[in-house]
Amino acid sequence: MKITQIDNEPDTNKALLDRAKHCAERTDTCFSCGSKDIVISIEENRFQYGADPDGVELVASVPVHWCQSCGEGSCNWIAEEIMNEAVCHHLGRLTPTQIKE
Ligand SMILES: [Zn+2]
Repeated sequence: MKITQIDNEPDTNKALLDRAKHCAERTDTCFSCGSKDIVISIEENRFQYGADPDGVELVASVPVHWCQSCGEGSCNWIAEEIMNEAVCHHLGRLTPTQIKE
């Protein structure tokens, strides 16, 4: 298995890659074509938290599993966990002042 990473926040990416590799045995098969030729890359995932007009866009670096056979990309539960953490950080950062802004 080959693992790539983006350049920013190397410490964060390393922690993510460790987590991704930790469960790689369960996630290294393409759900679409069954190939085991999977490359994991850390990518910025932007997602909306909350409904408009109060929704905010959060960014989380998550491991994405790319199938080299069919090109299918997928996130697993680690990505969901990381996105949940991003939401928690976001909520933890909010102060009454920031909410008004
Ligand atoms: Zn595939």
